[in-house]
Amino acid sequence: MADIIQLLPDNIANQIAAGEVIQRPASAVKELLENAIDAGATNIQLIVSDAGKALVQVIDNGKGMSETDARMSFERHATSKIRNIDDLFSIKTMGFRGEALASVAAVAQVELKTRRAEDELGTFITVENSVVTKQEPCAANTGTSISMKNLFFNVPARRNFLKTNAVETRHIIDEFTRVAMAYPQIFFSLTINGLEQFHLESGSIKQRIVQLLGNNYNTKLVSVKEEMDYVNVYGFVGKPETAKKTRGDQYFFVNNRFIKSAYLNHAVSSAFSDMIAKDSFASYVLFIDLDPAQIDINVHPTKQEIKFEDERIVYAFVQAAVKHALAQFSIAPSLDFTLYLWSQCKIERWGTV
Ligand code: ADP
Ligand code: MG
Repeated sequence: MADIIQLLPDNIANQIAAGEVIQRPASAVKELLENAIDAGATNIQLIVSDAGKALVQVIDNGKGMSETDARMSFERHATSKIRNIDDLFSIKTMGFRGEALASVAAVAQVELKTRRAEDELGTFITVENSVVTKQEPCAANTGTSISMKNLFFNVPARRNFLKTNAVETRHIIDEFTRVAMAYPQIFFSLTINGLEQFHLESGSIKQRIVQLLGNNYNTKLVSVKEEMDYVNVYGFVGKPETAKKTRGDQYFFVNNRFIKSAYLNHAVSSAFSDMIAKDSFASYVLFIDLDPAQIDINVHPTKQEIKFEDERIVYAFVQAAVKHALAQFSIAPSLDFTLYLWSQCKIERWGTV
């Protein structure tokens, strides 16, 4: 009998690999926004149409790419962000797997325009089915514009898995919100079907939260800030009155990366304990910073889950930080009163404060 094993052609292998990284338009949104951040952009525009099924475009003013890099960027395992396995544990960039652009190019029609500040001309490249179909010099602004058109045009079965435009747009706004929340110093805009839905001037974390989650948070945020050698926690929790009946505005960022963690969520809810009803959910935007060597982010293809070297320390610290913040907020009036009595007492004893 003849041998039966064959190596898959590159474009098929890329399509299969893309299944992990690009499940829907919102996955491409996340990857392209993260690339813009890694490129040092201070201005990032996201444009989508037809819920991202027809177009997801990200325009940034970051460092751009050389002609060779532009072409290389679509190869699988092509990355400028790590060189060896140890780099994984000192990672400071959002990306490192070198898979996003290869995946996008395997399942959509992609147009890339990019120019570095030092180059006179930029590069324009189109890719389809993992094959470069055009490459030419072009005039371009400094930075990069990537358009992903007709997602899953060549994988109809996957296209059928996409949900209604309303649902896919919600996922896009969620991803946009998570990235924009973590980088309040960067300008972001989101344009959906020609209408600008978000226009986020750079500002403080608090301003960004209000821009993204709504004005009603303006007077309802309690600042959290606790530092120790091992880990820092900062950000805001919503006052108990902002608790929701459905799991709503809950954001953890570890080293500026949005993550999901039921375990840490428990740390926060338990800190609220009897301040909110049992069946409601606290609102929070919390940033946890620690040495990248203390976490493993390479445990999930979209990096939404991470592993902590010592999860319990982080849990205890987050819980304590939130408790402390809430205590300061809720006992503030009585604390002032105690101070007042204390100062009166001093006046009586020493005649002055
Ligand atoms: P990763 O981000 O994991 O390195 P990607 O496939 O997302 O992998 O991107 C491959 C490479 O292309 C990046 O490492 C980077 O060098 C380059 N690149 C991608 N997007 C941009 C961008 N917007 N600006 C500048 N360089 C980019
Ligand atoms: Mg990337």
